[in-house]
Amino acid sequence: MQMNQTSIQLLPEHIVDQIKAGEVIERPSTLIKEILENAIDAGATKLDLHLIENGLELISLIDNGKGISAEELPLAFCRHATSKIDKFEDIYHLNSYGFRGEALASIASVSKVSCESTTVTSYGQINIDGGLTSNHYVEERKSNTTGTKLFIKDLFYNTPVRMKFIQSKTSEKNHIKKIIHSFLLDHFDKDFSLKWDNKEKEIYPKKENQADRIKDVLFKGQSIELEEISASYDGVSVKLFLSHESSRGNAHKSHFLFVNQRYVKEMAIHKVILNSGATLWPEGEAGHYICFVEM
Ligand code: ADP
Ligand code: MG
Repeated sequence: MQMNQTSIQLLPEHIVDQIKAGEVIERPSTLIKEILENAIDAGATKLDLHLIENGLELISLIDNGKGISAEELPLAFCRHATSKIDKFEDIYHLNSYGFRGEALASIASVSKVSCESTTVTSYGQINIDGGLTSNHYVEERKSNTTGTKLFIKDLFYNTPVRMKFIQSKTSEKNHIKKIIHSFLLDHFDKDFSLKWDNKEKEIYPKKENQADRIKDVLFKGQSIELEEISASYDGVSVKLFLSHESSRGNAHKSHFLFVNQRYVKEMAIHKVILNSGATLWPEGEAGHYICFVEM
């Protein structure tokens, strides 16, 4: 009997990255979350995001964080390359969002990336297409201003199957909005701008407190009154914002829950929050809520 003899071989790194990318970045919104968090981890206080075609054609993010040194730029786009941990124990006392060092490698493997970064001592630029570096420029240069410009083009251009998972434009846009809104609510003390396609830039100046940011982001132009409730017990503190306005059902309502600055969905807490609104809302009705839990 004849057998098809296939030899065992290690896959090239960029193919492994393309396969793994599906786990880390399912869709444009998950990718946007990763790069926003990277900018925060780098200490950015000002972020400018531009999206074309819901991120499929272009996602660009400009931040004023500490930058990536020119020499290390290629490393930032390698799998398991991170500046956030260097030994296993570190994962138990992290105060950054990322640490797995997978996001940028995954992104670069399924798009055409160009990144420019300025640190206090260097300026660097890199281009990566489908995980393969086509250009890397390094310059020693002193600078007072630092930051990173990341341009991600033609997302999933080389993984057509992944592209098929991307649903309708409306649903993609809604996913992205949810990610950006939760980011804005959480990081009320950062300057942010957002541009969709060729539309006018939406500008969100940094705010002194969460309530002002909530009004800016969720209730633009409407006079929604918010009730603020704070409590803490046994190492857990809760800050809850409830709208006075209410109506039947939950459709078209803003419901946001953050635990330790991470946006989460949790049915049990959701119900507790709706119950706690009972003093404010008529029976059978509910309003908007934004809740921050720290523990
Ligand atoms: P992780 O965030 O898990 O470390 P990423 O792949 O998201 O992994 O990023 C890899 C590394 O690249 C980070 O550890 C960080 O050192 C650097 N990096 C990524 N984005 C930025 C940024 N906007 N500014 C400065 N450094 C960055
Ligand atoms: Mg990261």
